Amino acid sequence: MLILNRKDVEHLLSMPTCIELMEAALASLARGEVQLPLRPVIRIPDSPNAFAVMPAYSAALKSLGAKLISVFPANHGTALDSHQGAVALFDGSNGSPIALMDAASITAIRTAAVSGVATKLLARRDAKVVTILGAGVQGASHVDAMLAVRPFERFIVWSRDPRHAERLADAKRRTHDAAFEVAGEAPAAVAAADVVCTVTASREPVLHGNWLREGTHINAVGASLPTTRELDSAAVARCRVFVDRRESAVHEAGDLLIPAKEGAFRMESIAGEIGEVIVGAARGRQNDREITLFKSLGIAVEDLACAHWLYGRARARNVGTTVDFGA
Ligand code: NDP
Repeated sequence: MLILNRKDVEHLLSMPTCIELMEAALASLARGEVQLPLRPVIRIPDSPNAFAVMPAYSAALKSLGAKLISVFPANHGTALDSHQGAVALFDGSNGSPIALMDAASITAIRTAAVSGVATKLLARRDAKVVTILGAGVQGASHVDAMLAVRPFERFIVWSRDPRHAERLADAKRRTHDAAFEVAGEAPAAVAAADVVCTVTASREPVLHGNWLREGTHINAVGASLPTTRELDSAAVARCRVFVDRRESAVHEAGDLLIPAKEGAFRMESIAGEIGEVIVGAARGRQNDREITLFKSLGIAVEDLACAHWLYGRARARNVGTTVDFGA
């Protein structure tokens, strides 16, 4: 069995490569080539902590596997990531377990890569300014993903703790050509944006509908439970909504389910899955005025596609550690 740690994953999986992998994986999902049961989530009592199991089978890749992931939000700001775990990869032809890979790094890269795919498809062609709400792991990887799909000129970073926004802006100034600013207040940062990425662990709205200007594209990434959300109902009511997967959205997306319960949104009005836009089964942005929203939940085929590709690349380049395991 091949073991890939975080360093191995980060060394092999670049953002542009991952964006290509995610495009292919989401298109494959739209073509009905993927089996993807809803993920069971254990909520750990008296805490915001959770543990999820995310299995998938891809007929196109002839590959199967599962991500095991713990989410401990209070780890943010410590030496530990809030998301930790492993992606287990199995050989689709004989069922053998063949690899175990660091899930924190795969999750950081693939989630932002999927937002990159959505942005490439849905943001206005003349979009220049990106606002990032949240300056954790996803805040950082979303900057990389946005710049991998469009030549954005200006990034505005807001976070609950302004020191974290400053730290992220500082780090990105060193590695990217765009301008990076820190926002004191979220409303002005959102109002100035062509693209907004919400990447916080907040359980309550951090983005309000009356802050948004026409033509904005939003990637809403942070909330993934039916009871939590980052967008208020007024924001969702103004948007044409896309998802990674309908079945997951109707069970897990508080960002949509709470407005639906309040009568501000109809789940039936979801315009399409991102994969459906890629394969031409759903229409993307229709004009420069509409506000588009990609509600990301994160789905197991994204992790499987990364793990499948990483396995081949690591074997070809002799990266990782092989251990004796199983037959
Ligand atoms: P981190 O722990 O690295 O960062 C958390 C971020 O959330 C920080 O910027 C923090 O701000 C902010 N935050 C926490 N609580 C609040 C609050 N109450 N109000 C406003 N901001 C808050 O997490 P990640 O970057 O790894 O993940 C961010 C979110 O994205 C999480 O909710 C995570 O579960 C979700 N996620 C979604 C995925 C998907 O596929 N859709 C995949 C992976 C993660 P500050 O530091 O300033 O306090």
